[in-house]
Formats: sequence, structure tokens, C-alpha cells
Amino acid sequence: MPCVFCRIAADEAPSRTVYRDGSVVAFLDANPLAPGHTLVVPVDHHERLEALSAELAADLFGAVHRLVAPVQAAVEADGCTVAVNDGPAAGQEVPHVHCHLVPRFAGDGGGPIHAAMGPRPHLDGAALDEIAAAIAAAV
Ligand code: AMP
Ligand code: ZN
Repeated sequence: MPCVFCRIAADEAPSRTVYRDGSVVAFLDANPLAPGHTLVVPVDHHERLEALSAELAADLFGAVHRLVAPVQAAVEADGCTVAVNDGPAAGQEVPHVHCHLVPRFAGDGGGPIHAAMGPRPHLDGAALDEIAAAIAAAV
């Protein structure tokens, strides 16, 4: 079983696990961006968010919802950045879906998720209409 998150989920690799249920496991990130940085991971191996069943996606976000307050409370954080790097282009390094909970502190020097992007594109109203229609048609 080469995937490190599969191995953690199967209890075959060390982790600081903070939550586990039948479909989701959560553990501290080994290279934390902040104290309390936690990863919430489906037990089953799926590379991309879109590959999750609707039920598993609901379980995953349910665990995120359940964990966000305890994670913040444990490190006395003021907020939390909740994010998924979905695909290599988005910075995903471990090819097993995971949601980052990164506790945030007033004045911690970090930015919003917006700061992770490159320059903003110039999109006029027609372009936005076209994109919105394409998304709506594909849902
Ligand atoms: P991403 O760039 O979204 O794929 O993030 C992968 C995250 O997994 C990084 O923050 C790593 O520090 C973390 N990570 C990698 N291996 C382990 C591990 N064995 N235990 C805990 N966290 C890990
Ligand atoms: Zn895996």
C-alpha cells in the first residue's frame, strides 16, 4: 500500500490521529503551517474531490465541520483556513484527497486564500456570463 494517507488510515503508518470514524480519519500534518494544522482524509483512496461519492463528500465535510472548533480551541486560534488543494495544478502533493484545517491567529502574517493565486484575470460581463452558463450546464 504505497499511499501514505492510505497507510495512516489503515493504522499502518504513524500519525497523530485526532478523529476517526468509518469513512474519515483526521490527523496532525507532519509539516504544520501552524500549531494544530490538521488533515481530514477519507479512509478510501481517491485522488480528486470529484471522485468522491456524494455520501463520502458529505462525510468528509461533516468531519471538517465537527473538527473545526475543537482544532481551534486546542491551540486557542482566532480562526481557521479550510482548504483543499485539488490536483497538482492547485498544489496537491499527496494524491489522496485531504482537507487542510490551518488554525489562524490575529496578526499571524498569513493571508487569505486569495493570496495563493497569481494575478487576477480580466473577465468582462460577457465572459462571466459564458463561464456561469458553462458551469450551470455541466452540474
Ligand atoms: P498537499 O500539498 O495539499 O498535497 O498537502 C500534503 C500535506 O500532507 C502537506 O502539508 C504535508 O506536510 C502532509 N504530509 C505528508 N506526509 C504526511 C504524513 N506522513 N503525515 C502527516 N502529514 C503528512
Ligand atoms: Zn491513499
